[in-house]
Amino acid sequence: MKIALLSRGPELYSTRRIVEAAEQRGHEIEVIDALRCYMNISSMNPQIHYKGQLLEGFDAVIPRIGASVTFYGTAVLRQFEMMGVYPLNESVAISRSRDKLRSLQLLSRRGIGLPVTGFAHCPDDIDDMLQMVGGAPVVVKLLEGTQGVGVVLAETHSAAESVIQAFQGLKANILVQEFIREAKGADIRCFVVGNKVVAAMKRQGKEGEFRSNLHRGGSSSLVRITPEERSTAIRAAKIMGLNVCGVDLLRSNHGPVVMEVNSSPGLEGIEAASAKDIASMMIEFLEKNYKPHRTTTRGKG
Ligand code: ADP
Ligand code: GLU
Repeated sequence: MKIALLSRGPELYSTRRIVEAAEQRGHEIEVIDALRCYMNISSMNPQIHYKGQLLEGFDAVIPRIGASVTFYGTAVLRQFEMMGVYPLNESVAISRSRDKLRSLQLLSRRGIGLPVTGFAHCPDDIDDMLQMVGGAPVVVKLLEGTQGVGVVLAETHSAAESVIQAFQGLKANILVQEFIREAKGADIRCFVVGNKVVAAMKRQGKEGEFRSNLHRGGSSSLVRITPEERSTAIRAAKIMGLNVCGVDLLRSNHGPVVMEVNSSPGLEGIEAASAKDIASMMIEFLEKNYKPHRTTTRGKG
């Protein structure tokens, strides 16, 4: 196969590993910065140009689109799809997963376990909002935050009220969530490829920290997941329409709850924790599933 890897960082661990795995398996792979692509929108002959050249002859495309470039990145991916190139994850599924509210609504509609969650822009009655999610303690989140920034634990009603008021001052969209204390500062990342969880790791926040993000000083280790956790992760991936994703779960006393489904899950932590060659599994998925001009995978489902 000739594969396009949409990534802005050729030096990143995940990018390097995917290139390595593709080459080892005898494929040709080119790293392409989506932001540098320019395209024509003509009905018969959609094209992508890159650094003065026409991109052509690709069989498959692997999108690694960062959250900050979702809009343009998914447009470039869509253009590849219009050209008949098989996407590892479809553009429509990536856009869907980047909208946290849309994702939570879709998952809840299909009965996936979620933390009790309220969302609001500028609620007039904060007391009612808090009561709706079961009262303090709650976790208040800025919808646009990443890597644990803008995620605050409010232990009491008055703390929750102040945090919500402060976030309101930013004119931001907020999530107010039941605090899953019993998760003890840990979450579980399930790495899904196709219909399988190929590896799972537990991320534990540092002492006294309820957020498990590795960027916040958390550490990761191998974990054995339960059949219920496994099926929750697989169903969540399917509902989102993603072939490859990281499903983040919390172990709550009402079963596994999904916090987030990440469409460009990093490989470094999970390959280190599991000692598995996940990059090759992603390439194998393409080998098994790609067909010329097949561009609808499961994104529409
Ligand atoms: P981000 O997307 O910025 O990483 P998350 O919503 O994933 O933010 O929250 C960061 C971390 O905080 C999670 O990985 C988890 O460990 C912890 N956390 C988030 N929400 C809750 C919750 N409702 N109850 C308990 N812990 C939570
Ligand atoms: N940085 C990756 C992204 O933008 C996510 C890393 C991870 O949480 O696995 O989607």
